[in-house]
Amino acid sequence: MVKILDGKVVRDKIAEELTKKIERFIKAPLARRPRLVIIQVGSLPESNTYIRQKILFGKKIGAVVNLQNFKQKIDERSLINQISRFNSQKNIDGIIVQQPIPQHLDKNKIVDSIEPAKDVDGQTSINFKKLIENDPTGFVPATTKGVLILLKHYKIPIAQKHVVVVGRSSLVGKPTALSMLNKDATVTVCHSKTQDLEKITKLADILVVAAGKPKLITKNHVSKNQVVIDIGINVVGEPINTDLVGNRLDKRLENEPPGHKLIGDVDFKEVSKIVAAISPVPGGVGPMTVASLFQNLLEAYKE
Ligand code: NDP
Repeated sequence: MVKILDGKVVRDKIAEELTKKIERFIKAPLARRPRLVIIQVGSLPESNTYIRQKILFGKKIGAVVNLQNFKQKIDERSLINQISRFNSQKNIDGIIVQQPIPQHLDKNKIVDSIEPAKDVDGQTSINFKKLIENDPTGFVPATTKGVLILLKHYKIPIAQKHVVVVGRSSLVGKPTALSMLNKDATVTVCHSKTQDLEKITKLADILVVAAGKPKLITKNHVSKNQVVIDIGINVVGEPINTDLVGNRLDKRLENEPPGHKLIGDVDFKEVSKIVAAISPVPGGVGPMTVASLFQNLLEAYKE
């Protein structure tokens, strides 16, 4: 029987822990709540739904989340100036730039203008270098951290295992591969130019997929006893009924992102008949990413 690696269960456990911690912290004289600033440029519908998840989670645990929305045509200098302003505000603990940002802005320059101690999504080059060097003082990107915590929760060891990561983006694939390496796995990274993907993925003990290609991984790519982590989020079809107004907060958090049919990069129906454990989409890595972002925020706050 396949084991389902349920990210919602783990997210809710983390939410409880973080709520208790924040309650404890704010009892101290003059203490304030942890504060996250989300920078959004423009108003992409997908981004709006991901941002909403972060705001809801923040509210649930008692953190403050401020959404700072800038016009699509803002120039690089003005945006960097705004980020510098947030860097210098002592009551702001974490800053993230919601991706994607418009093409006229240099993504690396914008992200690198975040103070590394407030870079709670681990996207600055300083935090990336710390990841390469296995320096624990850096922030691990939220999705990667979410994957590590999901595996830990289900007592799936990483050390000495062969981990195959499909995808090599700076946002997900590379940091995940590096983190696995830091945890003493033997790591293979695959990408769109990889030959014989099926042969390589079949050799994995843990197969992590972050390609953004619906059902890329089929029953032909997997073997039994494997653990499969599906990071992919692909929005398919028309938006479904989004009338969630009035629903309880917990109910709204269930849907990530609300109002869309989502599928992963793995053909869940077929693959789950073969492997030992699998994370579903939705309900796997998605909720973990949000929870881990706030775990990082609390670390930044404590500092
Ligand atoms: P990118 O498009 O930046 O990277 C995709 C990677 O997959 C690339 O390295 C690409 O290879 C590789 N790839 C594409 N097609 C194939 C193929 N046919 N075979 C093997 N490799 C392939 O995407 P991201 O890394 O940003 O995101 C990946 C997925 O994860 C997306 O679905 C995204 O929505 C999801 N995501 C989910 C999150 C969550 O919280 N669960 C958070 C962030 C992202 P190459 O480098 O050669 O082009």
